[in-house]
Amino acid sequence: MNFQSSLDTAASVPSDVAGEAQTWRSGVGRKTQIVVVGGGAGGLELVRRLGAKFGRKHHDIILVDKNPSHIWKPLLHEVAAGSLDANLDEVGYRGHCHKWGYRFFQGTLSGVDRERRAVRLAPVLDDDGSELISEHTIRYDYLVLAVGSVSNDFGVSGVKDHAIYLDARDQADKFRTKLLNHCLRVSRTMSVDPSANARVRVAIVGGGATGVELAAELYNAAGALKHYGLEVFDESRLKVTLLEAGERILPALPEVLSQAAHSELEKLGVEVRVQTQVIKARKGLFLTRDDDAIRADLIVWAAGVKGAEFLTTLGLTTNRNNQIIVRDTMQSVDDDRIFALGDCCSYIPEGEQRPIPPRAQAAHQMADTVYDNMKRVMNNAKRAQAGRSQIALKPFVYKDNGSLVSLSRFSTVGSLMGNLVGGRMAVEGRLARLIYTSLYSMHLLAIHGWLKGLSLMAIGRVNRIVRPRLKLH
Ligand SMILES: Cc1cc2nc3c(=O)[nH]c(=O)nc-3n(C[C@H](O)[C@H](O)[C@H](O)COP(=O)(O)OP(=O)(O)OC[C@H]3O[C@@H](n4cnc5c(N)ncnc54)[C@H](O)[C@@H]3O)c2cc1C
Repeated sequence: MNFQSSLDTAASVPSDVAGEAQTWRSGVGRKTQIVVVGGGAGGLELVRRLGAKFGRKHHDIILVDKNPSHIWKPLLHEVAAGSLDANLDEVGYRGHCHKWGYRFFQGTLSGVDRERRAVRLAPVLDDDGSELISEHTIRYDYLVLAVGSVSNDFGVSGVKDHAIYLDARDQADKFRTKLLNHCLRVSRTMSVDPSANARVRVAIVGGGATGVELAAELYNAAGALKHYGLEVFDESRLKVTLLEAGERILPALPEVLSQAAHSELEKLGVEVRVQTQVIKARKGLFLTRDDDAIRADLIVWAAGVKGAEFLTTLGLTTNRNNQIIVRDTMQSVDDDRIFALGDCCSYIPEGEQRPIPPRAQAAHQMADTVYDNMKRVMNNAKRAQAGRSQIALKPFVYKDNGSLVSLSRFSTVGSLMGNLVGGRMAVEGRLARLIYTSLYSMHLLAIHGWLKGLSLMAIGRVNRIVRPRLKLH
């Protein structure tokens, strides 16, 4: 089956750069097709706005994602621990696209043919491996890559085969199922022999936000299990070890906050080991440089992210982390018609040494810039019916609002940046918690609009009261 003919646009818009980096020339086009690959933190916000603005009248907005639904990635540690039921928070792309005027195709990007301006999607397989839809292509006039990132194992032997990553919903679900099975095993052992010191052991590599948030969330979940049938299970039956190669956890935060988080984790029962470099993973085991073997029922790798391998095969310039290098307009350095945003791109602002960090707030802000630039290109395409015109694209300016790390219901720490607080301000406790949860609220508003976004927030609050605290299957 080939979707190409139904998705082809009748005319494409010629483009070329006229001298300056931010100057774009665009010509006549009957129906322009924008393909956004990746409906995550950045991509879904973008297609929602593009769909709402342009609909299908003059332009065709198409979202491609390998999954049928979206879950905001910063919630994955809660999904893994069972304290969030992803079925309640997920957004089905098919329903969303119907409401917002874009089209959705489920498929995995496997290549880009820049000459023919087409993305190639891998065959779609049924659960039993049989082919449902053969490899096919979708034409684009403008392409936006927003495919996120994958865990970086830094070439450490055995990690890929034995450790669990928290990159996607299915991995978080897999973790939760295994966790619950081990909790059941320990609960059973303890009820048969109360003197047995049975425990569920979890070892997490990476003292960044993901590792720290997961460690705390696991204690929150363990504390709740006794209310849901595992009567002899509580926090003391959980043993979490957090391994960090650097001198302290949360290196992106000021030292005082990193210390506060460290103490809070230890109070919960987490063994925090800094300056501990893992050099090998085996089944149920991490080996450190000091020849220490850390055994666990579940071993998790959360030591950093990189772009997916396939990004290096698209013919676009990538950095050593496989991220597509973009200009300040979010266009790829190689192709004016290809934009990239979020975790999958690398942009180093002028005068800076480091690229913008892979964060939800960066993806959100980049989606804003790409939206503005698409709007400029589209409006110009309409205006330029009779000739060619030049459009100055908007440069991306990153506004670091700070970062917050949630230690589940126990605490939240972080630092706020910006004019509002007059520079950098450390925050902890309720205020930090409030700001942390408002990030997700902002995402809900960005993908659903005010009415539905606010309704969903209210429903979320009710659910927290009426539904079980844990997802137990
Ligand atoms: C546990 C955890 C906690 C986090 N907490 C925070 C936080 O508190 N604050 C913060 O700012 N950031 C946080 N982050 C980071 C944040 O989630 C990411 O930076 C952000 O989601 C990146 O957005 P994105 O749009 O680039 O990619 P994503 O949100 O990852 O979306 C990528 C999309 O692309 C799709 N996709 C991938 N490959 C393909 C393909 N080949 N073909 C088609 N579709 C594809 C995926 O299905 C997905 O829908 C956290 C991350 C994790 C894992």
